[in-house]
Amino acid sequence: MPELVFFSGTMDCGKSTLALQIGHNRSARGLQGVIFTRDDRAGEGKLSSRLGLVTEAVEATEGMDMYGYLIGQLSKGGKVDYVIVDEAQFLAPEQIDQLARVVDDLGLDVFAFGITTDFRTRLFPGSQRLIELADRIEALQVEALCWCGARATHNARTVGGEMVVEGAQVVVGDVNRPAEETGYEVLCRRHHLRRMTAASARAGALSPDVLPVTSA
Ligand SMILES: [Zn+2]
Repeated sequence: MPELVFFSGTMDCGKSTLALQIGHNRSARGLQGVIFTRDDRAGEGKLSSRLGLVTEAVEATEGMDMYGYLIGQLSKGGKVDYVIVDEAQFLAPEQIDQLARVVDDLGLDVFAFGITTDFRTRLFPGSQRLIELADRIEALQVEALCWCGARATHNARTVGGEMVVEGAQVVVGDVNRPAEETGYEVLCRRHHLRRMTAASARAGALSPDVLPVTSA
């Protein structure tokens, strides 16, 4: 039975690496897939992982009919055996509905990869719809770690290393940019609630007024 599978996790949990691995394993068996992504760090029409692997992908633009796109490929004689969607949190709920139709009407497996919650711990609309519709949800096993060493379960947005809790849900940023710019950091829930990033923890450790934080 074809399935809609949602691989969910925080940032830095190896989603894109696993997406590339699934694609590689299937193409090694002679299967052909369509890879969609949205706002990948490597640029439009690319799927990249932090480990440095990159492959060509179809940019899932705003308003794109995912089901219609695949029908178009198939009617042109293209071979499509499965579908991979990276950065699925950025898709609109309607686009997730279209992916469910790809599974049910076209009989294709759809593997969607996404971050579950935003920097305010709220579900992304695309991820919410995936949780509602997926046949199966897989929490990724490669665990990202908070600076304290605990399992990182939450995404923080930072400006100059300080955590912020206001702003638009999607701001393109990167952990490799200069510290004054918007970035992202994964934290455990305790440090997300305390708004304590690696930078503010270091600053706190230098201040004699602040008790050291233990990672119990
Ligand atoms: Zn922590």
